Amino acid sequence: MSISPETTETKYDVPIKQVEKSIKVSERAKQELKSSGMMDEKGKLKLKGVSPKMLKRMKLESVDCPVFEQEIGFVQCYVCTNFHSRISGVVYCKGEPLK
Ligand code: SF4
Repeated sequence: MSISPETTETKYDVPIKQVEKSIKVSERAKQELKSSGMMDEKGKLKLKGVSPKMLKRMKLESVDCPVFEQEIGFVQCYVCTNFHSRISGVVYCKGEPLK
């Protein structure tokens, strides 16, 4: 049996893909991460509850984002305001329009 999140809150089920080379976090996302304290000035990520080992794995994952309509690294997806949850290799995305 699988656990499903609240379907009313999420619009898209986005499968997570493995990538050979990590996808860079966009400049815009970097600024957001810095202002919310999730990235230091040197660009090092500081995500609560995410171990360095997990972070390494997350960097080699991506999603074909239906909102930004492009491939986005999972780290950036994870910190996105639309991120609801991740269950069994699928991101549950709220799908709100983002600039
Ligand atoms: S959570 Fe954000 S980055 Fe991830 S799929 Fe949804 S809109 Fe795209």
